[in-house]
Amino acid sequence: MHFYSTNNPNHIVSLKEAVVKGLAPDQGLYMPVNIPRLPGRFFNELPRKTFREIGYEVIGALFKEDLSDAQIKELVDHTLAFDAPLVEVEKDVYSLELFHGPTLAFKDFGARFCSKLMAMLMQGENRKVRVLVATSGDTGSAVANGFFKVEGVEVIVLYPKGKVSELQEKQFTTLGENITALEVDGVFDDCQALVKQAFLDPELNEKMLLTSANSINVARWIPQCLYYFYAYSRLSKTDKRVAVSVPSGNFGNLGAGILAERMGLPIDMFIASTNVNRVVPDFLAGSHFEAKPSIATISNSMDVGNPSNFFRLLALYGNDEALFRKKVKGFYFGDQDTQRAMVKIKEETGYIMDPHGAVGYLGLRNLMKMHPGEFVGIFLETAHPAKFKSVVDETLGIDLPIPERLQAFMKGKKEVVGMGKSFGEFKGILIGLDGTA
Ligand SMILES: *Cc1c(COP(=O)(O)O)cnc(C)c1O
Repeated sequence: MHFYSTNNPNHIVSLKEAVVKGLAPDQGLYMPVNIPRLPGRFFNELPRKTFREIGYEVIGALFKEDLSDAQIKELVDHTLAFDAPLVEVEKDVYSLELFHGPTLAFKDFGARFCSKLMAMLMQGENRKVRVLVATSGDTGSAVANGFFKVEGVEVIVLYPKGKVSELQEKQFTTLGENITALEVDGVFDDCQALVKQAFLDPELNEKMLLTSANSINVARWIPQCLYYFYAYSRLSKTDKRVAVSVPSGNFGNLGAGILAERMGLPIDMFIASTNVNRVVPDFLAGSHFEAKPSIATISNSMDVGNPSNFFRLLALYGNDEALFRKKVKGFYFGDQDTQRAMVKIKEETGYIMDPHGAVGYLGLRNLMKMHPGEFVGIFLETAHPAKFKSVVDETLGIDLPIPERLQAFMKGKKEVVGMGKSFGEFKGILIGLDGTA
């Protein structure tokens, strides 16, 4: 598969270059030059296929020029090592639970695929890739766990000292091996700035192969399309139209759903559900796209004012804004609405939603209210409610047990390298690590 840059359709690169570079040199996003359509046979057989069988066919259609059948199987088996159950919450309303992976959030899918693919693409190179990732919490844990013990890849996580929850911190500071955590005396933006400067530093790039595993990377973005196929395959046969609501921040997840639809998956409507960071719902309602400073909410993994995948969504619709607005509806919700929905569903059905999933639920409900009886809908439950225990406990008046997988992290010993926020210090640490690698 070849990729072009959203800033220049004539800039075409290989899969390896797109994955190792992350972002195009002109700052554009990489997009597949051709999106394959899957055959009718595949869709007829969907209900009888396992998640992994679906994965082999979809990833095969996308990457057959780049990888052998054995590599595709290895990649899919590694990525889909846990289930994504579809749970009926109310009549015609389903929750797609994407939180059964090692760090209990949907980012595990993309991170596991990305790490494995990077290792495959780097095979035979005599130098290691060094993945730099700045995190405000969730990305660091998914990436660190996804790359843990992956050969040929080293991960350096930068995070702001005292600004992430203990639980989040433990998920990337207790692993050891090929994972190094740098505790930066600063805020998230300082961490981000250090990473950006490292990619621009000639001396560092001469000495080592640096790459990023943020959500812009096609290797994190593309595999997310798999669970849309799987969710659809698990819906009972219905004459109703199918809608999928995606609680969104940077809009990679929604973009992957649209990719699945472009490959032929019969989803009739997507819903871009956000908290009050409403740039995309505003665009879909007719405004110009305009980035804004982000606003803090209880669904904080979606507090994004300048969603980096927006131009990827537009590109998927051939840069046709009218078509984009026809196929995707946008809704946004305040924290109070979100909490009310969490309470209502808990009281009526016993189901516990995390604040992100609850935003997705609300978006779906809005669409279904506007078109009574017309749709069956799926909302993506992007994180386990225990990941947001304090909000969930306070909203529902409960003491949610922490799943064993999360508790296990709490027992680990935190090991970090402390540093200030000067680039010189960061560079010194990176070069020092090289001596020991
Ligand atoms: C990252 C994240 C989101 C937002 O996903 P995008 O692909 O950035 O839109 C939603 N929910 C949770 C729990 C997340 O961690």
